[in-house]
Amino acid sequence: MKLGIIGGSGLEKIDHVALIKMHEVETPFGKPSAPVLEGAIDGTSIFFLPRHGKGHAIMPSEINHRANIYALKMLGVTHILSISAVGSLQEQYVPRDVVVIDQFYDRTKSSASHSFFGDGIVAHIAFAHPICPCMASLAVGAAQKALSELPESGGRRSMVHRKGTYVNMEGPAFSTAAESKCYHSLGFDVIGMTNLPEAKLAREAEICYATVAMVTDYDSWHEEHDHVTVSMIVDNFIANVALAKKIIVYAVDAFTSVGRTCSCSKALAGAIITAPEAIRPDLKAKLAPIIGRYIR
Ligand SMILES: [Zn+2]
Repeated sequence: MKLGIIGGSGLEKIDHVALIKMHEVETPFGKPSAPVLEGAIDGTSIFFLPRHGKGHAIMPSEINHRANIYALKMLGVTHILSISAVGSLQEQYVPRDVVVIDQFYDRTKSSASHSFFGDGIVAHIAFAHPICPCMASLAVGAAQKALSELPESGGRRSMVHRKGTYVNMEGPAFSTAAESKCYHSLGFDVIGMTNLPEAKLAREAEICYATVAMVTDYDSWHEEHDHVTVSMIVDNFIANVALAKKIIVYAVDAFTSVGRTCSCSKALAGAIITAPEAIRPDLKAKLAPIIGRYIR
């Protein structure tokens, strides 16, 4: 088992890592957002990839998610922990809280690029439950430990929410108030720009995947919070990055005992619909790390 970590806004580097190797990976889908850092935290190796690239130069809609997940698959990653900044769509998700989401709502417009398949090979994975329960459980434990070390702020202690629906918009602009109120009234929980494609591709690659969604602000539905200043958001953002680094350390610590009672590692079994004899040799070669167990 190998753990991959995809870092989001503000998380280009992680602490306490002994560098083993930087992997400059080239995939059939192009280059990942950055070289993949292979390192060790207290003796457990990890593979770290900042999704927005060095210096945060890649917009959400420009991220080559296929190359990112393919690169991690090539390096033998079996589990991914994703760290992301999100906006809150409900009162109970207070800035600096953590939501280990369990569902997505797709508001992207480029879903064709959110699959390894196409161009002569068709597969339909099950995606009703897009988050790996084993990784989610690990993420909840790590986030609870990290938050328990923080002092109360304003009489309240930041908390971990065990589920929630993540609306994936494309950005780069944030939602209009009308859109945000719509998502709020539909009962969705948090909003971000990147995690749904990662989760879909990880499932196709039979990698366990969970997201630690870190709340930065109340998006634009919440009229009483309209006066929130950029500096307050930046303060939350900086605090969340520091918290994310602690969560990663605890997640790595717990990883060696993570269960794999989920079905993520068999997600492609029966999902490839195209007749094997109809699949071109070049496609078999291109997708070998993904489909090689099933199609040769
Ligand atoms: Zn799993």
